[in-house]
Amino acid sequence: MPVYEFRCATCHAVFDERRPMADADAPAACPQGHVGANRLLPLFSTTGSASPPSGGMCGAPVAGGCGSGCACC
Ligand SMILES: [Zn+2]
Repeated sequence: MPVYEFRCATCHAVFDERRPMADADAPAACPQGHVGANRLLPLFSTTGSASPPSGGMCGAPVAGGCGSGCACC
């Protein structure tokens, strides 16, 4: 079940609520009990860097670059 992030319109608290996707836009109550929290837009994960790490787990700078015949690269 997805987790949605809400911000309370009254106290501006931001909180997460796990709910079915069908109820994504249903009203939410903040931890302080205020109703009418607004759902924040989902944040898409952009944590990955532009270039994936090269090489294998042995730490070689390039794939196949360690030359030791290890299994990782
Ligand atoms: Zn509140």
